[in-house]
Amino acid sequence: MSMFAGVEMGGTKVMVAFGTGPEDLSAPVRIPTTTPEETLTNVERLIAGAATGARLLGIGVATFGPARLERTAPDWGTLLPTPKPGWGGAVIGPRLADAFGVPVAFETDVNGAAMGEGRWGAARGLGDHVYVTIGTGVGVGLIVNGAPLHGALHPEAGHIKVRRDPARDPFEGCCPFHGDCLEGLVSGPAIAARVGQPGETLSADDPVWDLIADYLAQAMATLTFVTAPERIVIGGGVGSHPAVLLATQRRLAKELNGYMPHLTSDEAIQAYLVRPALGDRSGVLGAIALAQTLFNSSQTTKAPDAPVSRGTPEEHPHDRRQLDG
Ligand code: ZN
Repeated sequence: MSMFAGVEMGGTKVMVAFGTGPEDLSAPVRIPTTTPEETLTNVERLIAGAATGARLLGIGVATFGPARLERTAPDWGTLLPTPKPGWGGAVIGPRLADAFGVPVAFETDVNGAAMGEGRWGAARGLGDHVYVTIGTGVGVGLIVNGAPLHGALHPEAGHIKVRRDPARDPFEGCCPFHGDCLEGLVSGPAIAARVGQPGETLSADDPVWDLIADYLAQAMATLTFVTAPERIVIGGGVGSHPAVLLATQRRLAKELNGYMPHLTSDEAIQAYLVRPALGDRSGVLGAIALAQTLFNSSQTTKAPDAPVSRGTPEEHPHDRRQLDG
């Protein structure tokens, strides 16, 4: 049996699962995120254990950031300076490639979840979509032409500005970098700081949800105007709140105000801004989707005269053993 390993690295826990898709996915194993050495040793142990009974074709990692995703960069597969103690400079991709000798895909957690929802979930079959998660922070994964959008770094659309009316919302935001950016206004900690209690304890008709929906609709309109996605998948603790999605859909229609001709009816907006379909498995499944894509491209680039494109494993020395073997 052949399989891929999917590793979703979060700030507090890591999920590891094996398979080729939702049908044969193993039950995800959770391990706590402690030091890089201890955490990655535990990840390696899990992968080694699973690989004894099956043929490991590749590993996908979807990690918290910031991270170096550019495969040709000398520090590919590492974390960049991060507020999480000990993790700045942590070497993840090369370490796993060295340990197992298989292609390793390395992405951000939100790009991973976006790929998972695109391959098997709420954005299935679409090549241009957005995954937004609103919880302790706001993460946005942008898929353009079937692949996660990378620039000089990964985009950080969770920190875009939205209009705040200080008379209606005197809360000045809690983003340490920007104050009242989107994350500073709608994340779980922002809601708790604004109303003095966790969002989970508020009733569904608490007026704060209208405020959150206003900000989210502004951000969704911005994303719509900038990348014209075919769909936006919105989840996370805050994003999945029953009061939030409906209100955001209604307000998004007002924000767009008929300007995008394919998004004028209520039905179109409801099909456009949707909940995730893979639940808490979108991250590990996305990691597996990324590993699969990388493995497939490594197979095609084995053919003589095949063009070498950006992002193929042979551009990274740690993947060469797979191609040579
Ligand atoms: Zn910010």
